Amino acid sequence: MAKQIVVQKFGGTSVGSPEKIKAVANRTANLLSNDKSVVIVVSAMGNTTNQLVELTKEITQNPNPREYDALVSTGENISASLLAMSFQEIGIDAISLTGAQAGIQTQDLHAKAKILTIKTDRIKKELDSNKVVVITGFQGINPNADITTIGRGGSDTSAVALAAALDCSECEIFTDVDGVYTTDPRKVKDAKKLNEVSYEEMLEMASLGATVLHPRAVECAKENKITLHVRSSFELIEGTRVKEVNQLEVSKPVTGVAINENEAIISMIRVPNKPGIAGDIFKELADNGINVDMIIQNVLEDKKSNNISFSIHEDDLEQTLNITKSISEKLNCSVLHDTSIAKISCVGIGMISKPGTAAKMFSALGRESINILRITTSEIKISCAIEQKDAHKAIEILHKEFDLA
Ligand code: ADP
Ligand code: ASP
Ligand code: MG
Repeated sequence: MAKQIVVQKFGGTSVGSPEKIKAVANRTANLLSNDKSVVIVVSAMGNTTNQLVELTKEITQNPNPREYDALVSTGENISASLLAMSFQEIGIDAISLTGAQAGIQTQDLHAKAKILTIKTDRIKKELDSNKVVVITGFQGINPNADITTIGRGGSDTSAVALAAALDCSECEIFTDVDGVYTTDPRKVKDAKKLNEVSYEEMLEMASLGATVLHPRAVECAKENKITLHVRSSFELIEGTRVKEVNQLEVSKPVTGVAINENEAIISMIRVPNKPGIAGDIFKELADNGINVDMIIQNVLEDKKSNNISFSIHEDDLEQTLNITKSISEKLNCSVLHDTSIAKISCVGIGMISKPGTAAKMFSALGRESINILRITTSEIKISCAIEQKDAHKAIEILHKEFDLA
């Protein structure tokens, strides 16, 4: 009978030192049996990726994208090799594979490529010879066989994509907290651990700043019906399961509060009021893999022009300014930007059936004199841009207001 394949991902803190890497090997060793084989996906050790990014800045403010990926992907190579050696030290056969060796093929885009396919032949061959297979997260190769990376925090997505390619029904994400909480437990002391969260809610939370999971990982898990088990690397306890949840089982309107303090607002002023222009602007941003949110367009009094503004992740600021400034030169309009904002969001499938959630959120912020700069909503989330200085107070207030503690 074919062995069951278990896919586990260990994040940066979990492999942050040689001792922690050895602990990962020991923990997984206990799981190996005649009917289970293991694939482990690792992030770079601790702060390595940030250090590599800083290193590029010592050379250039505008690194060549191919060389940028060639460099920042190397952190994962270190942790994967060290983990494979740790298994070998305790008598377990193991092999490390880079993204390319593991057959992870991506789009031809650097720094935020999407995984297109995974050719699993090599992985399966190694599993068949009873090895633990340790794979570098975060990286793949494009059609030219150049190394690509899939976005900061992307090792979660590497793990889920591998779980999908290997037909697993669950993927374990080991991290430095013991599950998904109602809000970041490092920011709000009485945040509460959730036993389960729906894919939809987790996708919104992750996209809106809950860094515990990479948004693409949640999307990929949903598409492939894979349950994510987010759990502690350091304690042997149950974590949070991200899976299909029936909306009727949810009693509270809000499941979690997410905060993103790394947003920037771009405003294009006096854009000619003609059909097709918004399409041109946002297509150019999309082609460069830039995610936009909070889009607001309003026509000016003369009706000949309008202002278009939207928010982006601060990491995309330079690139977005280059794109919008080049468009604005052609259109004879101007571009402004503001990085002093934060986006706070309430998320919950329960709000679909509970009117008044938005009013409750706005009133709670208003009572504490927190000014709302802009608002966007979907069926299961309400986001407000506020001033960054109010961010921490706002999470505390909303966490209390929606009875999440
Ligand atoms: P890893 O290196 O394991 O991928 P990350 O730092 O990317 O770990 O993600 C874990 C962190 O996510 C936690 O330390 C926590 O501060 C943060 N976080 C943000 N929002 C949440 C949330 N709602 N629940 C749990 N953790 C959260
Ligand atoms: N090492 C990469 C990063 O720091 C990927 C990851 O940790 O998921 O972004
Ligand atoms: Mg992460």
